[in-house]
Amino acid sequence: MRTVRSIRTMQNVCREATARGKRIGLVPTMGFLHEGHLSLVRRARKLSDLVVVTIFINPAQFAPNEDLKKYPRDERGDLRKIRDAGGDVVFIPKREDIYPDDYETYVTVEKLTTALEGASRPTHFRGVTTIVAKLFNITRPDVAVFGMKDYQQAIVLRQMTKDLGYPVKFVVAPTVREADGLAMSSRNKYFTPSQRTEARCLFFALRTAREMVKAGIADCRKIEKEMRAAIKATYPTAGIDYIAFTEFSTLRPVQEIRKDTIVSLAVKVHGVRLIDNMKLL
Ligand code: AMP
Repeated sequence: MRTVRSIRTMQNVCREATARGKRIGLVPTMGFLHEGHLSLVRRARKLSDLVVVTIFINPAQFAPNEDLKKYPRDERGDLRKIRDAGGDVVFIPKREDIYPDDYETYVTVEKLTTALEGASRPTHFRGVTTIVAKLFNITRPDVAVFGMKDYQQAIVLRQMTKDLGYPVKFVVAPTVREADGLAMSSRNKYFTPSQRTEARCLFFALRTAREMVKAGIADCRKIEKEMRAAIKATYPTAGIDYIAFTEFSTLRPVQEIRKDTIVSLAVKVHGVRLIDNMKLL
């Protein structure tokens, strides 16, 4: 496995691989990798010949009050994990090469970014689409793999891929959870063991929703009420940012559960903003 830090070298590695008829699979990450990330690497391994994993804590997707400075890192551990999962190249660009001081070009998906996460984090998706467009331009992947954990991000990036005409097969892989249901996230590292227990409130809320739907309840307002109760039962001081029932591809709000309904939520647990989601039918 090879580690590349220069954009030029990364471009050359990918160009040469493509010239030799190899399919390039890209997995963008911010590092501090867990099984969720590694499931994407394994998926890319199955779908391509040269698996490129990127590690870049993208400042453009953090607001000034967010956790950019303290975002966890472990480059050595990440390299070992990527190698074991079948990665071929790890691209770790420098911030100043990606965003030099005179940088001023951004990619924006207009409507899909206004709801859910976009409502709370207005500059977030502009940062996400910009970095992924740049990584697509550098690596020219045949396949790119993203996680369902960040459902809206996947929908927004899929739209960008289509709108800008990138010839990339866009793959969204399922959310990997801990044994107790908590969705894996690099940010789980911020929790003490007792806080970590309370972080399960998001999964409990989703499980409540799933059980209600299974029992034949389709009224989103009713389900939301019980989800809020489930969160508060686990973690009474939870700051619920939103619980949203939307149509899967358009993010349009729905009142009744249908086949394409997904429920998403964002909850602040001990100062850490967590997100999760689940298809309900
Ligand atoms: P991040 O490092 O948080 O930017 O995530 C990089 C990629 O890993 C994104 O496509 C995420 O959606 C995906 N990812 C993060 N957590 C999980 C998880 N628990 N299961 C599956 N994919 C995940």
